Amino acid sequence: MIGSQLAQQTIYNGQRVTSASSFLRSVIKERRERLHIVGRAHVRQIVFEEGEDRRKRASGVIYVRDDVEVKVRARKEVIVSGGAVGSPQLLMLSGIGPKQHLNDMGIPIVADLKGVGQNLRDHVYAPVPIHSPNLTEGIAINDNVLFTSAFQYLLRGTGPLGYVGVDAQVLGRSSHAKTRSPDIQLILLSAEWTMANIEANQNNLNYKQEYVDRLRKRGEEHDTKTISNFLISNGLLKPASVGYIKLRSSNYLDHPVIQPNYLSNQKDVEIMIEGFRLLEKLEKTKPFKEIGAKMELSALNCGDETQSPR
Ligand SMILES: Cc1cc2nc3c(=O)[nH]c(=O)nc-3n(C[C@H](O)[C@H](O)[C@H](O)COP(=O)(O)OP(=O)(O)OC[C@H]3O[C@@H](n4cnc5c(N)ncnc54)[C@H](O)[C@@H]3O)c2cc1C
Repeated sequence: MIGSQLAQQTIYNGQRVTSASSFLRSVIKERRERLHIVGRAHVRQIVFEEGEDRRKRASGVIYVRDDVEVKVRARKEVIVSGGAVGSPQLLMLSGIGPKQHLNDMGIPIVADLKGVGQNLRDHVYAPVPIHSPNLTEGIAINDNVLFTSAFQYLLRGTGPLGYVGVDAQVLGRSSHAKTRSPDIQLILLSAEWTMANIEANQNNLNYKQEYVDRLRKRGEEHDTKTISNFLISNGLLKPASVGYIKLRSSNYLDHPVIQPNYLSNQKDVEIMIEGFRLLEKLEKTKPFKEIGAKMELSALNCGDETQSPR
């Protein structure tokens, strides 16, 4: 283990801030002549022009807003910042990507770049429920917390409703780590299971049916609302498994195919198991013992490897 910390959160006055609210809105008025922002606009294609040197350069974009197509010309350059999925999708829609795939989609080729969309590394997380019968206070937002904290939040922007729900993290290095930086992340999330949210949680987190049935029984037998108290998510910070993004069609409105190939590299499986072992060590610490914390690994919809003897 490298260390632990309370999570930092991008919050202002009890509200999560975005890049737009924290960086853009404050400068829109004073930079009006240089900064022009068009909301609800979906870029459908990057436009290319051939220069005198016969090389193609991005010269603008075509975006669609309220069913109207607008072509914008760039004076200097086009910067694509559509994120891990949107950027390769837009590049491929515009003819930049693996030749064979663009041919299959019927998209004219601007540049045959094999790597576009081919290096998707999404860091997978396995959320492990923790049952802590000795916790005196719930840590998650439930009906009771909503009722008692609403005024505090409305008046001062503080209290349980004014934070994100990610509480703390532990960083660790597995036996595969080659540098000093961590490759294991355990995140503590205040995600309480109650009898009321059992279905929603199962759908979101894909837990085993036997586990959910056991939780329900626990709730009924003990007449308790809280049946599992928080989650610790075990995640890979440097996944070795490589996935891809492909177009589904040449229609910009079609969602692309996202294939993360989670845990397809054995190294990731081994690091993940080391993460669970770290979690087991946490379970044995004094503070965890005091609240009776018991991790419920059997909830996870995965093979028996996590249960294997140490
Ligand atoms: C669940 C989750 C948790 C994360 N937690 C953390 C964290 O704790 N710390 C951290 O540092 N990072 C975290 N990340 C990663 C972080 O969110 C990303 O690295 C970061 O947002 C990438 O920024 P970006 O601007 O490149 O892309 P994005 O934030 O993905 O922004 C791309 C934007 O482009 C828009 N777009 C895409 N295509 C088009 C198009 N054709 N036309 C118009 N608009 C388009 C999208 O709608 C989106 O708004 C997390 C990511 C996820 C999914």
